[in-house]
Amino acid sequence: MTVPEEEIRRMSLSLADVFAAQKTIAGQVVRTPLIPSPFLSERAGVPFLLKMETMQPTGAFKLRGATNAILNAPEGTKAVTCCSTGNHGRGVAYAARRQGINATICMSSLVPQNKVDRIRALGADVKIIGTSQDDAMKECLRLCETDGFVDISPFDDANVISGQGTVGLEMLQDSPDLNMLLVPLSGGGLAGGVALAVKAINPDIRVIGISMDRGAAMDASIKAGRPVEVTEVASLADSLGGGIGLENQLSFSLCRDLLDDVVLVTENEIYRGLQTLYFEDGHVAEGASVVGIAALLADKLPAFKGPVATIVTGRNVDMTQFTDVITGRPIQLGDTIVQGRSYDA
Ligand SMILES: *Cc1c(COP(=O)(O)O)cnc(C)c1O
Repeated sequence: MTVPEEEIRRMSLSLADVFAAQKTIAGQVVRTPLIPSPFLSERAGVPFLLKMETMQPTGAFKLRGATNAILNAPEGTKAVTCCSTGNHGRGVAYAARRQGINATICMSSLVPQNKVDRIRALGADVKIIGTSQDDAMKECLRLCETDGFVDISPFDDANVISGQGTVGLEMLQDSPDLNMLLVPLSGGGLAGGVALAVKAINPDIRVIGISMDRGAAMDASIKAGRPVEVTEVASLADSLGGGIGLENQLSFSLCRDLLDDVVLVTENEIYRGLQTLYFEDGHVAEGASVVGIAALLADKLPAFKGPVATIVTGRNVDMTQFTDVITGRPIQLGDTIVQGRSYDA
């Protein structure tokens, strides 16, 4: 029996790559703290910890993978491109500017304006293409074929995955007794990299991917046994939107093989997660960042017996929408409405 090429590439990724990434990006990204949440610990009945990736200078963990990919780009790379739901584009734009490389970021019209503005402010070229991440991805590939750009995938690239894996490595370095990690899940670069790193150190740690319940491409793909397309819909967790690519090389098989479970949360549960993190812990975070907290509050997690941690992945919120959630107003998302409710613990 021959092993498919995709499997070989995946198997060659290891903890050593994540350690190498940690060395490469040291000093270029922030080593973020892992802090206890007293309220969520009380609720969980075990210590509940938050990995504060909101403290990265670009406001999200994606700076790690983007920096590792750019520092490992082929000699003489003059221009990079990527498709993005916003945070990866900002990470690539930031890291490229630091290295004196041009960046062109391709995004769909679903990406919130605040994210687009921040990317432009870093000096990157921005292209708004179509209404889905897949449309943006096609433009990105075209730039590589016709104009000699180097593509940096938001999740399906060995250097990006190793870079995101450093989040998990740091969590175990700071708290070796973690029992379960709750990882926001979209294309699976973060969950795949984190699972790869932490399970190589301690095979008993469980890693749970968490997504919104509509348009969760990785969940649908794992269930189907192969990468599938889903319809992208507006969500409070806008950073979790988008497909995983039908030609997915790495992140699909990593998530399929290493995640212990995938849990889905509703928009109402994400709404409550945002309010809880804000009122109880005082943190501003994106919908994508609170899906693990939402799953805890909704009693959707598998059983755990020791410290639990989640990654607060980003803080690049649309402030108007965020203040609407905090003040309990209803939120219009595409053609659906999330009923508002003011916070009470
Ligand atoms: C990209 C992103 C995720 C998901 O990461 P994947 O590697 O695509 O699974 C989660 N939260 C935020 C804020 C993100 O920007």
